[in-house]
Amino acid sequence: MKFQLESHNRNVPDQDLIDDLKRVAKILHKDKVTIDEYNEHGNYHNTTLSRRFGSWFNSLEKAELKKTRVLNITNEQLFENLAETWTNLGRQPKYNDLTKDVSKYSSGTYEKRFGGWRKALEAFVAWVNDGEMPTVETNKKSARTKRTSRNVNWRLRAMVLMKDGAQCKLCGASPQNGAKLHVDHITPWSKGGETVSENLQILCETCNVGKSNIEV
Ligand SMILES: [Zn+2]
Repeated sequence: MKFQLESHNRNVPDQDLIDDLKRVAKILHKDKVTIDEYNEHGNYHNTTLSRRFGSWFNSLEKAELKKTRVLNITNEQLFENLAETWTNLGRQPKYNDLTKDVSKYSSGTYEKRFGGWRKALEAFVAWVNDGEMPTVETNKKSARTKRTSRNVNWRLRAMVLMKDGAQCKLCGASPQNGAKLHVDHITPWSKGGETVSENLQILCETCNVGKSNIEV
């Protein structure tokens, strides 16, 4: 964090500010620069650029860099991405797992939003587990009425994943050994099984296909 008086930079030409931003991107070997990265490596403060060009996004645009949209990400988007990463990895993601090949957002984004990596995971688990279970009507009249949709939303999927672990309930395959995981209705939805975590389990693609063949 640098503390710089704004007036000292007022006469700096636009191009110098842009060049400095480009320089930081170059030393980081990145096509985008976050505010924190700039403040660590830049010769000016991010507010100098933001004020000059209207916003941080505009500054990145002027420097022909990719725009970072960290500010617009909702917690729900962060959680959804984490659920996806968790599923793909087949285990609880570690701080260093969130590379750009695996995750849309960096660990740093989570850290910043929730005040630490561990806290981000705790918030995620709390959020997932807090997902209200849809109540299933059991009175005689509506006993046959579907209360839940067949579709398993990502939050429920994450809940089942954390309940069962990210591995096939039948054969134990996990994404770590190349399996693709599905969420399966234990009692098929078509036979009255509801989309609630008690009636859901994790199966690998192979077992899931096998199971639905038997069920038909
Ligand atoms: Zn399996």
